[in-house]
Amino acid sequence: MHNLISDYLGEILDDVRDHVDGEIPTYITSLTKADPDWLGIAMCTTSGRVYEAGDAEVLFTIQSVSKPFIYALALQECGLERVLDVAGMEPSGEAFNELSLREEDKRPLNPMINAGAIAVNQLINGEDSSVEDRVDVIFDFLSKLAGRELEMDEESAVDELEKADRNLSIAHMLRSHDVIVDAAHDAVDSYTRQCSALVTVRDLAVMSGTLANGGVQPVTGEKLLDPEVCRQTLSVMSSCGMYDAAGRWMARVGIPAKSGVSGGLIGMLPGQLGIATLSPRLDPAGNSVRGVDVFEDLSTDMGLHLMSTEHRTGSHAVRSVDRSGEDTIITLQGVVTFTAAEEILHKLNSLDFVSERVVLDVSRVIDSHSMGRRMLKEQLQRIREAGYDIAVVDPDAELRGRQLSDGSQIPLAEDL
Ligand code: GLN
Repeated sequence: MHNLISDYLGEILDDVRDHVDGEIPTYITSLTKADPDWLGIAMCTTSGRVYEAGDAEVLFTIQSVSKPFIYALALQECGLERVLDVAGMEPSGEAFNELSLREEDKRPLNPMINAGAIAVNQLINGEDSSVEDRVDVIFDFLSKLAGRELEMDEESAVDELEKADRNLSIAHMLRSHDVIVDAAHDAVDSYTRQCSALVTVRDLAVMSGTLANGGVQPVTGEKLLDPEVCRQTLSVMSSCGMYDAAGRWMARVGIPAKSGVSGGLIGMLPGQLGIATLSPRLDPAGNSVRGVDVFEDLSTDMGLHLMSTEHRTGSHAVRSVDRSGEDTIITLQGVVTFTAAEEILHKLNSLDFVSERVVLDVSRVIDSHSMGRRMLKEQLQRIREAGYDIAVVDPDAELRGRQLSDGSQIPLAEDL
């Protein structure tokens, strides 16, 4: 039986198939070997389910789509402060290969343009690392993200390096300002190999799914990155990932994303999905024409825009209120975020309790934030102060302790 979601993804591809605008870049010879008609998509949920359609098995060089992943690796290895030392987090509003540095401290504006990505690449495995060892660490990490051994397109790497005058100028510029230590040639060699990892959209979707999933690879379950590292990476992507089209992208699609010259495009929905597309023809900003179209369609159709004001998170936090028995039983569900807790408190405040005891059942709560838990406990304390007995049903210790701020404990309903 055909999968409904894969079918839907296929339909989205069909909708954009005849958009044949844009050009394949020629400055890297291997890119000219691409079939301009390639069109593929894959999606990976944070639960590790992958859906794909079109040319999902085609291998292509990762190019700039590697930048957020290696940024995340650098953050994980060296910490935020050290990484900010070599690349800022402001959009540049310029082309990806611009020879530009921030005026005040001569640092690249962000890690999503080449200058920043070359600087960040140099942090991996320590500044003293050989190119070989650094590239090994990078490939090992990218492979873990993908959940399979990734290979390098050696020919593409050699070929790009031969004509890398622009990136070499960038590296010289970085070295003259002490942003990098290695010789310019070695730095560009290392970065170019990073860009030559061979991936499919399926790989990229799973890799993106890992960032969306707080650093846990959703298919293998391996913990690769800290959640703070993923948050930082997604934040920088959201303002800098689409080069000088970043503002328009955020307004029209509204999810953190990164494009590359080989026509790859990734996006992540924090906590939900990683998505990747391939279509080699690029627009003047260097972004895949049909990739951008697909993401615009997906965002509208599936309601993925992060700035969408229609998502009413928390509005179903109270599953039921049962006042038929001896106790008033309030059953919660879903994720108790701040907004959910606010909704719960509002409901509780508007209820007249006819029973002597109020029981809060959190057995259907799947996750909670510390602020949400604090609010629930405060509210229970107030209910007790108003003269009622209180208790909770909390088999999985979702409340992480039943201590109230007055030092007392909330009893478990079954203990009474
Ligand atoms: N390797 C490419 C370069 O440095 C990557 C650029 C890109 O994908 N935008 O030119």
